Amino acid sequence: MKVRESEYEGVWVFIEQHEGKIAGVSLELLGEGRKLADKLGVELAGVLLGYQVKPLCQTLFEYGADAVYLIDDPILKDYRSETYMKGVVDLTNKYKPEILLYGATATGRDLASAVATDLQTGLTADTTILDINTEERLLEASRPAFGGNICATILCKEHRPQMASVRPKVMKAMEPIKGRAGKIVEEPIDLKEESLKTKVLRMIKDMGEKVNLEEADIIVAGGKGLRDAEGFKLVHQLAEVLGGQVGASRDAVEAGWIGHAHQVGQTGVTVGPKIYFAIGISGAVQHTVGMQNSELIIAINNDPNAPIFDHCHYAIVGDAFEVVPKLIEEFKKSIQQGGEVKYG
Ligand SMILES: Cc1cc2nc3c(=O)[nH]c(=O)nc-3n(C[C@H](O)[C@H](O)[C@H](O)COP(=O)(O)OP(=O)(O)OC[C@H]3O[C@@H](n4cnc5c(N)ncnc54)[C@H](O)[C@@H]3O)c2cc1C
Repeated sequence: MKVRESEYEGVWVFIEQHEGKIAGVSLELLGEGRKLADKLGVELAGVLLGYQVKPLCQTLFEYGADAVYLIDDPILKDYRSETYMKGVVDLTNKYKPEILLYGATATGRDLASAVATDLQTGLTADTTILDINTEERLLEASRPAFGGNICATILCKEHRPQMASVRPKVMKAMEPIKGRAGKIVEEPIDLKEESLKTKVLRMIKDMGEKVNLEEADIIVAGGKGLRDAEGFKLVHQLAEVLGGQVGASRDAVEAGWIGHAHQVGQTGVTVGPKIYFAIGISGAVQHTVGMQNSELIIAINNDPNAPIFDHCHYAIVGDAFEVVPKLIEEFKKSIQQGGEVKYG
């Protein structure tokens, strides 16, 4: 369904929260949304759904929101596509934002696609760059395409709102401004528990392997150059000495040396640690899109022409089986002598 664009105004960010804790990606999107809203000269708003979540509004103002569209209702206590979609669709139909952004998390991906289908509008998934064509008020949502070989800029010219999802750690949150104020627009939700198709019986927390690469300050990542599962142990050893997390290329994951939760890149996670070690990783674009925002990248590779060296701050050309044990030894010595791993 086509719409009259002029009816739509404002930049919105869907605020993901779990048990009252705001997801980092939502604050990052407020930072990016702030820039887009300023370019357009419009309001930036958060869209907050949940139960007993009103106190979170103040944090959203401090991270850049001018307003929060809030639905606070027991029916929204746990995320369900059915209830959250209804809430976001109702708010969108009533207040008509021109742009709506989501974190590309499990929740954000589920919700954004459901909302796009219901509103009959477009959605650019896994965007890495967002900009505005101010003349035409068009969101320019860019993302890697064709296996990462090109960066495609996608426009949604005829439908509103223009929607995009962005992975965690791709955008930067703004420095919070303590005490910054905004307005809360509270709406009810017209849903009855009895009429819903989905019921939450109980929530079971994932007790599987806990990997939180997205929040890690130090990541030691290994690739196919480590030859086998035995060789990959060097990555774990270095990570342990440095108090870091273990990352991996897709080839290392596919070889079965480590679980998929550790995969960095286009089909893994996007990370932005203070220090990223890339050991025996060639530097394929599908890997580098997931780690190139790291503050300090140290690459170890025995091929001086490996593409990873175009993406690093320090290049160590050498055999990982010689270099990494020496690094482990040196870091251990330094720590035993009272030193510490410093970064930042
Ligand atoms: C649609 C799609 C999505 C993808 N998604 C991802 C993704 O999310 N993440 C990802 O990582 N990949 C992804 N890939 C795969 C990607 O294209 C590469 O194939 C992969 O990243 C290569 O992994 P690697 O660098 O470990 O292995 P290789 O490319 O085989 O590189 C091994 C490197 O180790 C070096 N080496 C060898 N021996 C040593 C030694 N003794 N010491 C030091 N260095 C040594 C070699 O010089 C080489 O540079 C994707 C591909 C496609 C098509």
